Amino acid sequence: MKKNLQHVFTSLFCSSLLLVSATAVAEEKVAAKQLIAIKAGRLIDVENARVLRDQLIMIDGERIAAITPLATTSIPVNATMIDLSKATVLPGLIDAHTHLTSNPRQHGYSSLGTSNVRAALYGVRAARDTLNAGFTTVRDVGSEGFADVALRDAINDGDFPGPRVLASGYALGIKGGHCDNNLLPPEYNDVGKGVADGPWAARSKVREMAKYGADQIKICATGGVLSKGDAAGAQQYTLEEMQAIVQEAHKLGRKVAAHAHGASGISDAIRAGVDSVEHSSLIDAEGIQLAKQHGTWLVMDIYNDDYILGEGEKAGFLPESLEKEREIGQKQRDNFRAALLGGARMAFGSDAGVYPHGDNAKQFYYMVKYGMTPMQAIQAATINAADLLGQKEKIGSIKAGKFADLIAVEADPLADVTVLTKVSFVMKNGSIYKTAAK
Ligand SMILES: [Zn+2]
Repeated sequence: MKKNLQHVFTSLFCSSLLLVSATAVAEEKVAAKQLIAIKAGRLIDVENARVLRDQLIMIDGERIAAITPLATTSIPVNATMIDLSKATVLPGLIDAHTHLTSNPRQHGYSSLGTSNVRAALYGVRAARDTLNAGFTTVRDVGSEGFADVALRDAINDGDFPGPRVLASGYALGIKGGHCDNNLLPPEYNDVGKGVADGPWAARSKVREMAKYGADQIKICATGGVLSKGDAAGAQQYTLEEMQAIVQEAHKLGRKVAAHAHGASGISDAIRAGVDSVEHSSLIDAEGIQLAKQHGTWLVMDIYNDDYILGEGEKAGFLPESLEKEREIGQKQRDNFRAALLGGARMAFGSDAGVYPHGDNAKQFYYMVKYGMTPMQAIQAATINAADLLGQKEKIGSIKAGKFADLIAVEADPLADVTVLTKVSFVMKNGSIYKTAAK
């Protein structure tokens, strides 16, 4: 009797599992190294800013083999067919500013009880949620204990699902700055592992990040919103320090991403030759002009203001952080429009980890509200971000030879960009991670 009951429970449990996996939240992984034919009703060609109708995308293993009009193509008999003929197919999305190991419910003092190892394990869930949301590549810009490097390697080894990750290791910054740890009193001797003052110490720190696996170098050029005791607008690294960092990083084949809110820090970071300026909240006309002249990417995170001010101290944000956000949030959105009109290059980056992982696409609404067309916003999160990451030949568009990173949405994102928050199909490297398709 007992056994029978157990059997009933077990089969009930199993059938509910089956039910779940048959719905849109299914995480079905079809093994790579096989031929897949995708019928795409609408295909967004981000390189030429146009929509192609009724295309057949052939995937051979990890890569895209061909894109041809469906009407004139015969489908190989050995191919697995995926029918997305009622959907819009886009390249996998790219977020150039995430912190996969950051828990959005544990900011400020509530973060102090979390070990680097626990944060790395939290990152496993964040990586899965990010991939499920259609973000097949992220640039992680700063984590403790090289947890982002470990996440990248574990995902690449197939241990668990996640986006391809470009890791930074520790973010470099001045003593007491945004990238230092400033929550504890002096007797705790808590100094951020990315702290490096002076050009040579900073060069040495770049070498250390590269040694332990960083794909790019993240620095803090100015103060920040979520750090204690600094003004977000104030410059922190000097021009001389940033020049040393950029020279060293580029010599080692690493790009540099500079966190910067204030105008002078933004301008000096661009003069020093950084590859992207993150946040860019208080960028002025000079900064926009310099960014345009140097071809520097601006990565402006204009969604998370909603989360920071909405959650407030419940998510652990410091009272001073909330004050800084109230001061800076709207200015950043207005300056997004100014930078766009001024002709600066812009790539999608959201600061996921400040807010819940997987909500990355909520930012599209604001990108369109503050001046981009839906196509421009999609380009920022695909081909532009791929360019910033130095991966333009491999990802960022649906093109023969590139990695098969594709997503689909049921409605038209060019008519309503917010449909990108409801991704129904995710393929990375030719493997399917989410599908509602037959
Ligand atoms: Zn950040």
